[in-house]
Amino acid sequence: MDRTVGQLSPDSCIFCAIVAGQAPAVVVYEDAHTMAFMDINPATRGHVLVIPKKHARDIFDVDEEEALHVMRTVVRVAKAIDKALQPDGVNLIQANRRAAFQSVYHFHIHVIPRWWDDGLVPIWRHQREDPQVLREVAAKIREAIG
Ligand code: 5GP
Ligand code: ZN
Repeated sequence: MDRTVGQLSPDSCIFCAIVAGQAPAVVVYEDAHTMAFMDINPATRGHVLVIPKKHARDIFDVDEEEALHVMRTVVRVAKAIDKALQPDGVNLIQANRRAAFQSVYHFHIHVIPRWWDDGLVPIWRHQREDPQVLREVAAKIREAIG
């Protein structure tokens, strides 16, 4: 099974280059811990990426403190998008590892404005699961959280 994590080094990381001012980006917000800039391949008009300035590969690598900073910026950006662009909705999307469609290996959260007619499709189908299966899976996760 491919659980490839991709590039590991901040030296070869495009988002670290953006943070360092060595690669261009259309920035919408920046503070001591985070940056928010336009995605170069927007899923919809107004698609923004929010990142920690400190390199972390993915959700498994990011410090909880850094993640808190990122989430605060995500809330600010989402509210700004809502005010500025008046979308019908907003999705937060976050990918970890290739199997989950991660393509840039510096932790980031997509803030994607949505419109009824934007043509995007759901990423999963709603299919009811056996409650016993839900309980078994939940027990495993609960044990792992500790
Ligand atoms: P992922 O697929 O890892 O969830 O998302 C990576 C995102 O980064 C993609 O939506 C892609 O368009 C965007 N991206 C890749 N390279 C660059 C870049 O150099 N600048 C900007 N602004 N976005 C990028
Ligand atoms: Zn990086």
